Amino acid sequence: MANLTRDLFIGLSNNKLLNTNAKKWGFRLGAEKFVAGTNIESVIEVVKELNSKGISATLDNLGEFVADKSEAGMAKDEIIQLLETIHNENLDCHVSVKLTQLGLDIERDFCIENMKEILDRAYEYDIFINIDMEKYLHYEKTLDVLHILRKQYTNVGTVIQSYLYRAEEDLEKLKDVRIRLVKGAYKESEDVAYQSKEEIDRNFIVMAKDRLLGDTFTSIATHDHNIINELKQFIEENQISKDKFEFQMLYGFRTEMHDGLAEEGYNFCTYIPFGNDWFGYFMRRLAERPQNMNLVLKDTFYTKDNKLKKEPIIAGMLAISTVILLSKCNKKKKD
Ligand SMILES: Cc1cc2nc3c(=O)[nH]c(=O)nc-3n(C[C@H](O)[C@H](O)[C@H](O)COP(=O)(O)OP(=O)(O)OC[C@H]3O[C@@H](n4cnc5c(N)ncnc54)[C@H](O)[C@@H]3O)c2cc1C
Repeated sequence: MANLTRDLFIGLSNNKLLNTNAKKWGFRLGAEKFVAGTNIESVIEVVKELNSKGISATLDNLGEFVADKSEAGMAKDEIIQLLETIHNENLDCHVSVKLTQLGLDIERDFCIENMKEILDRAYEYDIFINIDMEKYLHYEKTLDVLHILRKQYTNVGTVIQSYLYRAEEDLEKLKDVRIRLVKGAYKESEDVAYQSKEEIDRNFIVMAKDRLLGDTFTSIATHDHNIINELKQFIEENQISKDKFEFQMLYGFRTEMHDGLAEEGYNFCTYIPFGNDWFGYFMRRLAERPQNMNLVLKDTFYTKDNKLKKEPIIAGMLAISTVILLSKCNKKKKD
């Protein structure tokens, strides 16, 4: 059942029509708990508050299904505007980008030119740019673009996903690159990725320890308290300097742990997505943790004073989702 729910939400995250329509809806389905606003102004206030608690941030101006050069150009301009705001407001904050948002699927060289414009400005302001890792389909291309950019820029790094069999080997080649280590958010086939939590977790821990013993900065991005506790013990036993790493978590998830780790003196960074293209991001988060579905149902069907809402699009979407889910369950039972 858990796998079916995961497949359903990943399927919804990949649905272009729903992603496009969601931009017009404004926040729905409880998304505002995990996405920090639709514009720069609102997200800046969130960053200021975190900075006042000693927590840094990485901002992701959400964007999915970028299909033409003008859209990718707009995304690049918005990111540069974001860099200017971070600089002018003197925020402790870097920026996370997705290469598909900047035209990777349209033309690789065009995407590289967009990245160079971003990196030139970021370098001027001493801001780090992280390239998020997307589906495996984009994996090789993303690493290629990173290698090209690294010849000219030091303020760029990327993400390694522990569910990939090849992750450890690739990490070895990225010894001098700042890396964010994650488990991996997409549905990948068993040809390329571990499927069991045990194997994914074990690979994560092996790679995290290896990086902690090395010289380059690592962002350990997980909400998994067991992994965090094991790594904290390892850090203490090996007297690893706290300057060499940070913990990262997503905005809205396990917030008490963000504050707790920062209070314990660890570098902590909150990943903050914002913008009106929230649907795909939000569905991937539901895929990871179906318990968040409770928020969906509550926020979708009921107002704050517990009255039933009338929102045909959303209710319809959830009804369709439920039908798909049930039909998959029935099929599975028959199989
Ligand atoms: C900062 C950041 C950036 C990321 N960037 C990328 C990226 O570029 N590419 C990519 O593919 N993926 C990215 N991800 C997503 C990542 O790959 C995982 O899909 C996601 O983090 C879920 O895995 P987990 O490590 O948090 O733990 P999980 O395996 O989801 O959870 C482990 C355990 O932790 C506990 N737990 C987890 N969440 C909660 C919660 N909300 N409340 C209570 N208990 C909880 C539960 O006991 C659970 O069993 C990113 C994640 C983070 C945190």
